[in-house]
Amino acid sequence: MTTTETALRADADASTSTSTSTSNLGHEHSWTTDSRHPTSAGWVLYVRCTGCGAHRVDLETRTDAPPAALSRAVGGA
Ligand SMILES: [Zn+2]
Repeated sequence: MTTTETALRADADASTSTSTSTSNLGHEHSWTTDSRHPTSAGWVLYVRCTGCGAHRVDLETRTDAPPAALSRAVGGA
């Protein structure tokens, strides 16, 4: 095995390792609220990732609780 082959194998190992907390885009989404709408269940939030442009719909049942995702992240570059 040459030094070049060793380096290439190391790169392949690094690129195939993934984290469950990040998308396949390799970053954690940074959600910003585009709009919010009151419903009987709470606030429905339409959020967008400022990093990749993905969209998601959240439901915020109480103002002092973190919003829960109603949908999976959709889209993005
Ligand atoms: Zn994102």
